[in-house]
Amino acid sequence: MTRTAIITGSTSGIGLGIAEAYAAEGYNIMLNGFGDADEIEATRAALDAKAAGTVAYHGADMTKPDQIADLVAQTEARFGAVDILVNNAGIQHVAPVEEFPLEKWDAIIAINMSSAFHTIRAALPGMKSRGFGRIINVASAHGLVASPYKSAYVTAKHGIIGLTKTIALEAAQHGVTVNAVCPGYVLTPLVEGQIPDTAKARGITEEEVKRDVLLAAQPTKEFVTVEQLGALCVFLAGEAAASMTGTALPVDGGWVAQ
Ligand code: NAD
Repeated sequence: MTRTAIITGSTSGIGLGIAEAYAAEGYNIMLNGFGDADEIEATRAALDAKAAGTVAYHGADMTKPDQIADLVAQTEARFGAVDILVNNAGIQHVAPVEEFPLEKWDAIIAINMSSAFHTIRAALPGMKSRGFGRIINVASAHGLVASPYKSAYVTAKHGIIGLTKTIALEAAQHGVTVNAVCPGYVLTPLVEGQIPDTAKARGITEEEVKRDVLLAAQPTKEFVTVEQLGALCVFLAGEAAASMTGTALPVDGGWVAQ
């Protein structure tokens, strides 16, 4: 049986890495995310050509509950099921709380946290009825510990770990597991984009941000890779992970061990 996975925010970065890993496993994939339409179609077609399963795309905006419900409904209609749901879409904004723009707070809470409530609410009934499901929430080391100037992001990431635990309990007797993965720094567009703002907020250079702020937190002094996260998501989607649920797994080069 070919499993079907939705990965939100998979036109870039970690989500695309997870989609590549699932495509290599032969799953059907529903991509999602923003970007240039031609580039997204090229990404979809390239993945589809490599994959044993079928790779499709839905452009739902993760701030819009009706579009999120449509993403799940369209995936079920096209492939017959949503077996694996990866809530990955996310944005960042870095600023002291007194200056934090209200619309950034609302967008980060909506995309990084509430969207997972909406996808789960739509996808869980089908998973329960089939007796199989894997929900993976891409949280962050910032779901476990804080850093200054990231009030909305740290709040949303702590929140999604609470959601992970709650749904794990609700779904525990239905063959559905719910876990959070908590990456440290991965050099994706999201991280590259916050380097200038962090430099400005702290009054230091961009090189100093990489060395003294980002990798300062990671004892390995190495960025986490999307391939490492993809491999973990493959494991969590498989039978060997059937007894793992309600966890928040750090993949952070030792960051939260400190
Ligand atoms: P990225 O910017 O490369 O990718 C983000 C994805 O989300 C893109 O596909 C983008 O189009 C999509 N997206 C943004 N807003 C959306 C919306 N409203 N609706 C639908 N899709 C939307 O970022 P990334 O670094 O790959 O981050 C992916 C996830 O990993 C995020 O949840 C992020 O918080 C988390 N994370 C990243 C890091 C890191 O160091 N990069 C570390 C820990 C956790």
